[in-house]
Amino acid sequence: MCGIVGMVNGHPVAADLVAALGRLEYRGYDSAGVALAGPGLPVHRILGRATDLVPVLEAESPQGHAGIGHTRWATHGRAELRNAHPHRHGGVAVVHNGIIENHDVLRRQLREKGHHFASDTDSEVIPHLMSEALAQGCSPVEALLETCRVLKGAYAIAAVTAAEPDRLLVARMGSPLVVARGQGVAATASDPAALAGMAHEYAALAEGEIAELTGEGIHFHPIRIQERRRGERRQQPRPVTVERRGQGRRAEQRSWQLIADPTAARADGRIFTHHTRREIAEQPEALAATDAALRGLALAPAVVACDRFTVIACGSSLFAGAVARDAIERAAGVTVDLEVASEYRDRSAPPRGVALLISQSGETADTIAAMARFRADGLPAIGMVNVRESAIGRAAEMVWPVTAGQEIGVAATKSFTSQLLALMRFGIALGEARGTGDAAYRVALAHALDAAPGICAEAEKSEPIARILAQRIAGEGEALFIGRGWGAALAQEGALKLKELSYLRAQGYPAGELKHGPIAVIREGSPVIVCTPGDAGQAKVLANASAVAARGARVVALTDASGAEAASGTAAETITLPGDALTAPFAQAVFMQLLAYHTALALGHDVDRPRNLAKSVTVE
Ligand code: GLU
Repeated sequence: MCGIVGMVNGHPVAADLVAALGRLEYRGYDSAGVALAGPGLPVHRILGRATDLVPVLEAESPQGHAGIGHTRWATHGRAELRNAHPHRHGGVAVVHNGIIENHDVLRRQLREKGHHFASDTDSEVIPHLMSEALAQGCSPVEALLETCRVLKGAYAIAAVTAAEPDRLLVARMGSPLVVARGQGVAATASDPAALAGMAHEYAALAEGEIAELTGEGIHFHPIRIQERRRGERRQQPRPVTVERRGQGRRAEQRSWQLIADPTAARADGRIFTHHTRREIAEQPEALAATDAALRGLALAPAVVACDRFTVIACGSSLFAGAVARDAIERAAGVTVDLEVASEYRDRSAPPRGVALLISQSGETADTIAAMARFRADGLPAIGMVNVRESAIGRAAEMVWPVTAGQEIGVAATKSFTSQLLALMRFGIALGEARGTGDAAYRVALAHALDAAPGICAEAEKSEPIARILAQRIAGEGEALFIGRGWGAALAQEGALKLKELSYLRAQGYPAGELKHGPIAVIREGSPVIVCTPGDAGQAKVLANASAVAARGARVVALTDASGAEAASGTAAETITLPGDALTAPFAQAVFMQLLAYHTALALGHDVDRPRNLAKSVTVE
């Protein structure tokens, strides 16, 4: 997690650094800070949001032409000022995203050499190690190379030094980082969108790579190749120029992409106070774009040959897999298992078939770790990512892309429904290629998916009803979501959305499971939201809903026109959403998003940046 930025320019960069950090706040917002290269190596840090840096910098007006910035999501050390990045020592200032797993050992070794530490973070060893290397005669870039060679774990690092006022250094191993360039500017960021309007194009920094950024350009160096031969004495300067000769080619081969501005106004001119609300409204476009990107995409032969798939994901991505599971199984006649990535990575059962990795950012650390198990057994993985240039996007044998556009709100909205559509289209494509599964169902599902963008637009009109229900839930302080089949998975997503945004205790359960324990929580007036589409399973889910109603719960049924009559016999309130039972997952997802959004507003929470959360979970 954490957001990193860095910039070298022909003029003072502090203001741009803070603006870019503001766009990275979705990655963490425990503290923020910037450091400017050159004499004095000024560092400014605050507890809180990046925007809170503005008055500090206004007072100081730092003039540095190269600088780094950070917005933190704490992993080691509390959210306190002394743990805020950048960390500075011995003429080096560093920001870090990730976890240095051997920081304890390194600290001990450094302490023995007389180093004192000012923070509890794992990150602080980095400037100390770099300063050791500088003291031994290394140049700054050599010092970073030396340092990276002893670090274990995941990191994206950006560093500036007092000695080099016009140079920025970056390194990457396991955490996302891009480099970017523009007219006289070179920059870096955890997410290219942070640099919109500041740099023109970006490219991913490769795993195990370092780059030097100056106003003249970007030079890349692999971390591992420059091993010193036994007995060789350190030279001044060390032979980085040897690496540079080959780097021009590496730089040219890189795929550079234009930086788009994610906050550009919507075409229909609507203005939203929150990114989350805008992203709920963007679902029709996100779904249509995802559909367009998938059209005509052929499945790899190894995928077509397989009849067993394992969805591996976390959070909303996992629930998207769970909602779409039955659609894929029915459309393609295959078996789909579901695995929580953070649990699956340490299982002993051998992986089988093809992995389907779902991750909005493509950088989810647990999902990447789970992918390694398939890798180790030579089994293929399909990456279903919203960011093509991501760790999973690059490593997977095949990408089945989600094209929802950048999602800034921390809670998944348009990426969730776009994943649903991509998964269901995958099921259709797989069934067609294999010649297995239910052909008539595939035709019906394809029509439903064609209609899904329009259904999302219609479902957004349920906002006034969602707002009223939200007031009630905010008053009750809790909610239970239930359903069967895909409805059980969507119930879990609905509960997750409510928890994330409103901080209320919310649970999502398979309706049939209530009687085995959870029904004990029902009291007079408990709000229970039932996903009850008008399909063959409706009678059973309504029977489960009756059981909670009989114990005093206030049942609210989410349904479609074909299920409304039956639902109203059981529910205290029936909310009829557009579409039919096949498009119902989309309509109900939109309603649940609006419900969570308005509950959070009713309780006065920061919708775009809920407490304790960060958008892409790049730590394990
Ligand atoms: N481990 C570092 C810290 O706690 C960086 C955390 C992160 O990347 O989320 O400060």
